[in-house]
Amino acid sequence: MLLREVDYARPATVDEAIALLTTYEGARPLAGGQTIVNVMKARAAAPDVLVDLADLDELRTIGFSSEGLLEIGAMVTYTQLMGSSEVEVARPILAEVASTIADVQVRNRGTIGGNVCVNDPTNHLPPLLVVLDATFAIRGASGERTVPADEFFLGVYMSAVEEGELLTKICVPPSSGAGDGFAGVTIGKHGTYIADAAATVAEGDVRIALGCVAAVPVRATSMEERLAGRDLSEASVRAAAEGLGATLDPPSDVHGSADYRRRLAEVSAVRAVLQAAGRGKGA
Ligand SMILES: Cc1cc2nc3c(=O)[nH]c(=O)nc-3n(C[C@H](O)[C@H](O)[C@H](O)COP(=O)(O)OP(=O)(O)OC[C@H]3O[C@@H](n4cnc5c(N)ncnc54)[C@H](O)[C@@H]3O)c2cc1C
Repeated sequence: MLLREVDYARPATVDEAIALLTTYEGARPLAGGQTIVNVMKARAAAPDVLVDLADLDELRTIGFSSEGLLEIGAMVTYTQLMGSSEVEVARPILAEVASTIADVQVRNRGTIGGNVCVNDPTNHLPPLLVVLDATFAIRGASGERTVPADEFFLGVYMSAVEEGELLTKICVPPSSGAGDGFAGVTIGKHGTYIADAAATVAEGDVRIALGCVAAVPVRATSMEERLAGRDLSEASVRAAAEGLGATLDPPSDVHGSADYRRRLAEVSAVRAVLQAAGRGKGA
């Protein structure tokens, strides 16, 4: 289906982009276009103006802050994440997970900023960024604010980025010896997840976030508490996951019933924790 008529702007600076987004009520940022263009074609959204972020080079960089945080610009593509030496050194799980998103065309165009701003509950990156304790820099007409991952994802297709604002970068602490894991079950190879889980393990502290079971990533806090300070043998991790599914209220759809997703969430959490435990310092 052809797109409805839409105005198009290609600002040269972040300030110019924000000015356009605040001036025109129906204006929306255009990043990789891998979601928004499809949504527009399906007539599920109809922005009046697309503000293309393609020329904003400052949103395409990957580097380190003075505190040593990995800083990833919102317009960094999955392919860039996969080839970044900074990501490789600081948090290689980001490249690993990005490499499994969809196909090469989507990975070449799709951006980390678009992935989290759209907050599709089946997207790969939201649960991962929650366990990595990422923070999100959001800029608007009145300045910049920083939002932690636990407060960034608000609902299906809703994030803390408000109208007239731009996500500019995502900051991720370096692993510093932590092990990271990601596991789940997809619809076919490299397909969308039916359920997934991300985990980090650092000095007896375990963080687990589940994807596809609610509108936003869900922290498996009871499982985390059961594992805190414990030996992470397969038997103890499996025991800690028992009953996790019963605490969830996932959707049923054509790809799986709610009960199937509950079971997959438990299995994914076990696999992600064991993977993380096998990768950290001292593993
Ligand atoms: C066939 C196919 C399969 C896919 N499968 C998967 C999958 O399995 N897992 C997965 O994670 N993803 C998947 N995707 C989605 C893909 O990852 C998209 O790239 C991603 O969801 C959106 O990123 P984008 O850069 O294309 O953003 P766009 O589509 O350009 O934008 C998405 C939304 O975010 C807003 N936005 C973008 N950047 C900013 C910003 N900096 N500040 C404020 N708002 C912003 C836009 O206004 C828009 O509302 C798939 C896509 C396709 C086409």
